[in-house]
Amino acid sequence: MSTDASAKASPKQADTAPSLKDRGNLFEIAGRQVDKAMKLINLDDDVAQILAQPKNEIITNFPVRMDNGKFQIFKGYRVQHNNILGPYKGGIRYHHEANLDEMKALASWMTYKSALHEIPFGGGKGGIKVDPRQHSKTELERITRRFTAALGSNIGPEFDIPAPDVGTNEQTMVWMMDTYMNIVAQSERNSVRGVVTGKSVTSGGSYGRREATGQGVVHCITEWAKDKNFNLDGAHVIIQGFGNVGTYTARLLSQKGAVVVGVGDVGGYIANPEGINPHKLSEHVAKTGSVAGYKGATKVTREEFFGLEADIFVPAALELELGLKEAKALKVKMVVEGANGPTYPEAEDYLLGKGVDVIPDILCNSGGVIVSYYEWLQNKRSEQWDTADVLARLEKRMKQTYANVRQYAQAHKTDWRTASYAIGLERLQHCYRERGIFP
Ligand code: GLU
Repeated sequence: MSTDASAKASPKQADTAPSLKDRGNLFEIAGRQVDKAMKLINLDDDVAQILAQPKNEIITNFPVRMDNGKFQIFKGYRVQHNNILGPYKGGIRYHHEANLDEMKALASWMTYKSALHEIPFGGGKGGIKVDPRQHSKTELERITRRFTAALGSNIGPEFDIPAPDVGTNEQTMVWMMDTYMNIVAQSERNSVRGVVTGKSVTSGGSYGRREATGQGVVHCITEWAKDKNFNLDGAHVIIQGFGNVGTYTARLLSQKGAVVVGVGDVGGYIANPEGINPHKLSEHVAKTGSVAGYKGATKVTREEFFGLEADIFVPAALELELGLKEAKALKVKMVVEGANGPTYPEAEDYLLGKGVDVIPDILCNSGGVIVSYYEWLQNKRSEQWDTADVLARLEKRMKQTYANVRQYAQAHKTDWRTASYAIGLERLQHCYRERGIFP
């Protein structure tokens, strides 16, 4: 899946990684990553303690009427990690294995992502333990609306702003917005449009939001290629996950002449050394729900996929997909994390030791939240920016942050993940020291 809209999930995972609960505790792994950066910059103990836990963890169990008239109880989450730099911000994930520790990790990554890119937002994440594939559109609408009503004043355009993530999309956000609008005073309705981002353009979304995350990933790949004097024209790419992020990364990379030689998702893995046409593959996925069975490629196993002859690997599926075994199989020069938290720390150590560059999630998959920020600004000002304007702003910000991380990593002789966290942590600490801790 992806960090973003329209990704699909299914409990029947043939030839895939273990189920989420067997992959380890994501929050503990996220904590290990951040600790390394905290030590590097000698972060003050009080700030470290504040950031070690989310501020709020909301769990709501709510009933929804199914199409057959029976009721089903769902478990929803919203974790608000930190808001010192601005309103809590982050996606809503629909997945049958959604769990609290996962939400806590994902929420904390949003705090560091926004801090790193100097976006005036904090970090949050939420979701529902539900497999969206098992429900009709009408059921999904009722589930979404009931969840939004249950969250009530725990979200808001100046407090906590959800967005799409794995298993959710523009439609989900429009339902959330509409429900929220209907629970505030009539006279305020139009002023709360910015309660969610990632909406459709007609309902107040931003041009460029749909492709934003993939576009950001591609900006990082382009910058890396420039630094390394590497020609992207003809480069071989493998992509895991063909939701919003995987799809747009594939399309935009192929515009640069790169060749997608392998793709995988929850339904299986496919390869073609001559190249897979991302547009045709998207059509196939829209019809069947998976890349499996696509005529223009051959079926391969998950193990074979990781071992394909390629230059670039883009994990754009779920967390903790890239372990030591997969890292040892990879033949690529770079890993660009389109997904949040796809790499185990030991796999990253192994790759870095081998000279493979790893561009971390909070640096490269931030295009989504950056354009979410632009959407929120447009809503606040009742403006509609054109696509070129949005994408130019995104490009400038991605390139600026990329350069900052490169410089920081070189100056402190550290890896790019640690450098990215360190920059974010320094901003957070600076703000805490200026404002002080109440009372
Ligand atoms: N779900 C996306 C992420 O993980 C986007 C979040 C947002 O736009 O707020 O970055």
